Amino acid sequence: MTPANTPTEPVIQLQNVCTHFGNKMVHQGLNLEVRKGEIFAIVGGSGSGKSTLLREMILLHRPDSGSLRILGVNLPQATSEQILGLRKRWGVMFQYGGLFAALTVLENVGLPMREHRHLSGVEVDALAAEKIALSGLKPEVGAQYPSSLSGGMLKRASLARALALEPELLFLDEPTAGLDPQSADGVDDLILALRKQQNISIVMVTHDLDLLWHVADRVAVLADGKVQGLGSMPELSTQKLPAVHRFFTGTRGGNAFAQHQPTGQAWKPK
Ligand code: ADP
Ligand code: MG
Repeated sequence: MTPANTPTEPVIQLQNVCTHFGNKMVHQGLNLEVRKGEIFAIVGGSGSGKSTLLREMILLHRPDSGSLRILGVNLPQATSEQILGLRKRWGVMFQYGGLFAALTVLENVGLPMREHRHLSGVEVDALAAEKIALSGLKPEVGAQYPSSLSGGMLKRASLARALALEPELLFLDEPTAGLDPQSADGVDDLILALRKQQNISIVMVTHDLDLLWHVADRVAVLADGKVQGLGSMPELSTQKLPAVHRFFTGTRGGNAFAQHQPTGQAWKPK
């Protein structure tokens, strides 16, 4: 760990980030900070710029202006060597899995290790099998191809690959989208177990209110190009800001809110 990246320093700091596509302003002076070890969620309506923000954090998209500091490295001043180093320090679980169809699960999970670690084939396979187990999959799933997996198994296999290089930071894009409730509950538990075992910081984009109530330490609500609300779910649920209020008072939001209230009272829309 570098002196600049002490435990007290946030793992991600975005200041005054502005992003536009054509004449569409997506981020208009957005600020946020992710602390080491926390599970941080980004929520907001469709088109509010969540995926773009995630892409900016993993250096797949460059904002028009603003400062980004990730794991102690200032972007965009970073050298290509620093950027290469950074890419090995995080893992990403993409919404649709993003696994190579022609490779087995074991080969998919082993791929980042083959590229970035000086290990023998046997060592790679053993480590990949470890990540597969950590992701809650049976060992025999390693020999299967992605096309033969259910939605929940695919998410877990994608997670196993994201964990391949033992990342300090894990990005999850809609980790429970498209899953049946039972599989989604399994993912909630897995995320909590991972954070406990791996001392990892997690940033996730999600629409899933159950997931948010179960696992998120803090949640940022994106609207109109900025973070309009920030806090734990209990804190956010008492805020009356319009963008935050809207987020909680959709039908599903209302239901999830009612379930998590000790009094059983749903948030009543204005
Ligand atoms: P969200 O993930 O919150 O639904 P996105 O970050 O995907 O939102 O997109 C925010 C806005 O930016 C949307 O209006 C989307 O159409 C637009 N957008 C995203 N990526 C591009 C792109 N590569 N080119 C043009 N417009 C884009
Ligand atoms: Mg999106």
